[in-house]
Amino acid sequence: MRVGVLQLLLELQKRLNLTYLLISHDLPTVRRVADAVAVMYLGRIVEIGPVETILTDPKHPYTEYLLASELTVNPEDQLPEFAVREAKYVGRPKAGCVFATRCPIAEAACETETQTLQEVAPGHEAACMVRARNNA
Ligand code: SF4
Repeated sequence: MRVGVLQLLLELQKRLNLTYLLISHDLPTVRRVADAVAVMYLGRIVEIGPVETILTDPKHPYTEYLLASELTVNPEDQLPEFAVREAKYVGRPKAGCVFATRCPIAEAACETETQTLQEVAPGHEAACMVRARNNA
């Protein structure tokens, strides 16, 4: 988002006490303006929580994928293997976790069990049974 537009939105928000619902892949903008973030994959919310928590301590593998895909100014930085993995299938899987075809930590049960948001920390939820189990 252009800086001038963003600045105008922030000024209007302050002056008129507005709430925005911003839909973006632009993580620096999200970091700058959001209080809370809902991360979506194939139309499903897979992680939700305070912006700093989501961007510094993500619990869902897709959120990690998004953060790892941010452009870096250091050409020595390498994307992790899972960040460049190609999807095996296009579209939403018929059953199981929506991220199962790309997930680096998927288990057999991920292909059959639909995932719902579960609390992983106060005010922070992720739709991943593996992370919820490991976090318990
Ligand atoms: S439920 Fe399984 S496939 Fe889905 S994000 Fe978690 S580990 Fe990956």
